[in-house]
Amino acid sequence: MSNIAEEINKRRTFAIISHPDAGKTTLTEKFLLYGGAINLAGSVKGKATARHAVSDWMEIEKERGISVTSSVLQFNYDGYCINILDTPGHQDFSEDTYRTLMAADSAVMVIDASKGVEAQTRKLFKVCGMRGIPIFTFINKMDRDANDTFELLDEIEKELGIATCPVNWPIGSGKRFKGVYDRHENHVLTFSDTEKGTKEGETTVISMDDEDTLLSTLGEEALTALRDEIDLLDGASAEFDLDEVRRGKLTPVFFGSALTNFGVEVFLQNFLKMATTPLPRISQGQTIDPVDNQFSAFVFKIQANMDPRHRDRIAFFRVCSGVYQPGMKVRHVREGREMKIANALTFMANERVHMQEAYAGDIIGIYNHGQLHIGDTLTEGETLGFTGIPYFAPELFRSARARDPLKGKQLHQGLKELGEEGAIQVFEGEFGNLMLGAVGQLQFEIVAQRLATEYKVDAIYESTDVSTARWLVFPDEKTKKDFCEEQAARLARDSEGNICYMATSIYNLMTTQKHWPQVQFLTTREQGQKFE
Ligand code: GDP
Repeated sequence: MSNIAEEINKRRTFAIISHPDAGKTTLTEKFLLYGGAINLAGSVKGKATARHAVSDWMEIEKERGISVTSSVLQFNYDGYCINILDTPGHQDFSEDTYRTLMAADSAVMVIDASKGVEAQTRKLFKVCGMRGIPIFTFINKMDRDANDTFELLDEIEKELGIATCPVNWPIGSGKRFKGVYDRHENHVLTFSDTEKGTKEGETTVISMDDEDTLLSTLGEEALTALRDEIDLLDGASAEFDLDEVRRGKLTPVFFGSALTNFGVEVFLQNFLKMATTPLPRISQGQTIDPVDNQFSAFVFKIQANMDPRHRDRIAFFRVCSGVYQPGMKVRHVREGREMKIANALTFMANERVHMQEAYAGDIIGIYNHGQLHIGDTLTEGETLGFTGIPYFAPELFRSARARDPLKGKQLHQGLKELGEEGAIQVFEGEFGNLMLGAVGQLQFEIVAQRLATEYKVDAIYESTDVSTARWLVFPDEKTKKDFCEEQAARLARDSEGNICYMATSIYNLMTTQKHWPQVQFLTTREQGQKFE
């Protein structure tokens, strides 16, 4: 077995976020290309081609060409072992994104240079902000006409509230894109639109002191503009400060073009140097150090239907300490029993691979037949429970009942399992009526599809009068009893048995809150949290 500290030092685990179409998939693919994990561009995801995406496992994703569920990939590059966590680009899955970020130590934000900060960038960024993790920005598609560079940075600072520090600086864009100026190295990397997707772009390096070559390569106009911009930039932009980056207050910014493979390797190299090794995780107030000998890991995601031929589910764990080895025995904390993990998987470009060893920062997949829920902890040593995996109060609700009344039991079972997977939140009303709560519309469609295919339940989904829900915390038994009597018609229980107030409107919620100032109405709860 290798030395744990050495292995930890090699590891970088990051999530990649972007508004759909900014180029997240293309960039990921180029990373894999550099890592030698794939040798042909286009094998991660090809919307326009018949190739199926590595990260698009579910039918619905393929049909719609969107990435619904997060996925993970591992590859090696330059002595590093890199874990990338893909996040759903679609806004309906922000809860899933948040959970994925729980497993990451930093995030890479991809922005389309001609679009700037987009709606989904804003939302995902907010989620990153809640986690306070370092964010690295890649401004993509410089081979197309881009917005003004200063304006782009200004927009990031104003809209996202994070200081920016350009590591390199673009020289023109679109047809007049000449390359980037590297501020630290004080040289220019030239761009040539070589065959798309090939590994080697024909980039040359020109020192800023080599006036003649600069003039002949960039032309007088571009060179003068660059020199002016460098002057402006040195006066205006934030100083690079690694501590600020690590605290999520400053984002290093890189420019490039993922499609033509320009600026990607420079980005990867710098990112790997600046990003942290796997960070400690908190468990019940105690800090779990990645180099601890005893294995511990938590489930941040459960993914179904990864392989249409086997209707399996995989629970994704982030390893937090110790070493995973095949066949090891661990404690399943929630169930209070021992469990053997035989065949943990990792995911390389096109395939699942049985892992031989995994360390903190690695993501391992374990086949799940319902015994693992989101937030579950496995440990080798003392009883730990990693906290902080949240559920957000849903904003969309549907009632669900089986079309065939004899299938009521399957419906209950299906929804229970889908709820445990985090695909949807399930609430049960006073009379056993089921309500589904979602953060986005697409979640309903996916759940309906999965109930039909995996559980063979055709259900009827109807709108309800619920517009939002809150988890309730009572100061004492008497208040609880009085409240529950008065509000019986508006109460339901979540999958953990917690009482929730199902408000018909924000106004209704505010009125009830006003009448019951001693009761707390919570908008989030943590996995496994019980309020009673
Ligand atoms: P995602 O939705 O963020 O994963 O975006 P994709 O990687 O699927 O890219 C969306 C579209 O933008 C695809 O047609 C890509 O070929 C294209 N694209 C990605 N990167 C670049 C780039 O650097 N330049 C140009 N011109 N197009 C790009």
